[in-house]
Amino acid sequence: MSGVSPLVIKFGGTSVGNGEGFVRAARIVSGAAGERPVAVVVSAMSGVTDALIGAAGTSAGTRTTIRGRVRALCRELAGRHLRAARHAVGREFLPEVEGRLLSLLDRLEDGLLGGSLPGEGRRAEIAVYGERLSAEILAGTLCSAGVPAAVSPDPIATGFGPEGAEVLPRETGERCSCHVRPLLDEGLVAVVPGYVGRSPDGAVTTLGRGGSDLSATALGRGLGAGEVWIMTDVDGVLDADPRLVPGAATLPRLSYREAGAFAALGAEVLHPRTMEPAAAAGMEVLVRNTFDPEAPGTRISARECGPGLRALALCRGLSMEPLEALDGRFGEVFCLLGVDVYGTRALVRRPSGSAAAIVGVGSPGDEELVRGLRGLHRVGIRPLWAGNTAAGLTFVVAESRAEEALRELHAALLRRREALAGEAVA
Ligand code: ADP
Ligand code: ASP
Ligand code: MG
Repeated sequence: MSGVSPLVIKFGGTSVGNGEGFVRAARIVSGAAGERPVAVVVSAMSGVTDALIGAAGTSAGTRTTIRGRVRALCRELAGRHLRAARHAVGREFLPEVEGRLLSLLDRLEDGLLGGSLPGEGRRAEIAVYGERLSAEILAGTLCSAGVPAAVSPDPIATGFGPEGAEVLPRETGERCSCHVRPLLDEGLVAVVPGYVGRSPDGAVTTLGRGGSDLSATALGRGLGAGEVWIMTDVDGVLDADPRLVPGAATLPRLSYREAGAFAALGAEVLHPRTMEPAAAAGMEVLVRNTFDPEAPGTRISARECGPGLRALALCRGLSMEPLEALDGRFGEVFCLLGVDVYGTRALVRRPSGSAAAIVGVGSPGDEELVRGLRGLHRVGIRPLWAGNTAAGLTFVVAESRAEEALRELHAALLRRREALAGEAVA
């Protein structure tokens, strides 16, 4: 298979929530690994990173209570990971995997008990243990399924983070050549812990919450991959958050620009910076459902999808303020609303803000603005502001009506598009 460009497959924490999840992931990798070299990025089992960050950030209590808390957490993590390993890993490989898990958990316990104050660097080091544990289980599961695999040393090079650190492309390429490429050349599947990076001095960094998506595209660029699959628990990128809009539909295609804008607006399915390495390398990204791998998913590429609205994002915690009142703190600006009789106004990020914005991604025109306003009027929602901004087609509404406004705009602007497509086919 030398000369064939590798494939990177990333499994999120929702895909590896238990032993069955690791078996399912290994089945998908096994299907792909016959055709081309495969590197797999894996996240922590769902909920594990929250627990680790919580523990790293809590220093209150006496030495005895802290020790008790840390031991309880490590016992709980041992129980969960050993249970998953015993379900997914065959007898031949289980003792080695169990040994590796227990030695990681010992080191985690030492890390949590060492040091008096939770410094940021120590926090990053602790936060990524979930990915290290998952990687050992997945490698063992793959070997048990007859797919030789090994866990790779951390290949993603970053700046000095330590949290949400910036990926360094050239240095990542060098680390990939040194740590991952040799595994692929040996015919192994390389299993890479997601979320974790290394700063120039070798210290552990994180790519920020949800950062395994970015690990996958950064790894893909470093390896010269042809494609990256982001495997998750929904059918792809949906045109609105499915937890808020029951009728949200899977988008078959998106451009890097649209997917990047949607992710930056908070669409949780992709880390905000996932598209940067993919667009720079011209590498296609497929977002697919681990639980239904035959479903087509969403294909993201350089190809623009043409005029019209693709998706809607809901952004909470905002406030409309005169620009002058910001006193140069432009980092707080979500978008500018332009000049009117009140002066230059901006939508500003305020956790306790009483406004929310529903922002349309794609290439919407005035027609969408008018239809959206009509839709809101129909349900008695008066927008505080509406128009095109640098963020996209923006409808600002009171926070208390935000979810209702999102559903109404989705029905008026996106469901209608499907109905028209249906009429055209009929
Ligand atoms: P993973 O563990 O695979 O990284 P995440 O929980 O980070 O999964 O992201 C997937 C979740 O993102 C979905 O379960 C879904 O509820 C949520 N989500 C929010 N907005 C969207 C969207 N526009 N399209 C798809 N999923 C979305
Ligand atoms: N486990 C990390 C998190 O929960 C990274 C990821 O899931 O992508 O943020
Ligand atoms: Mg995620």
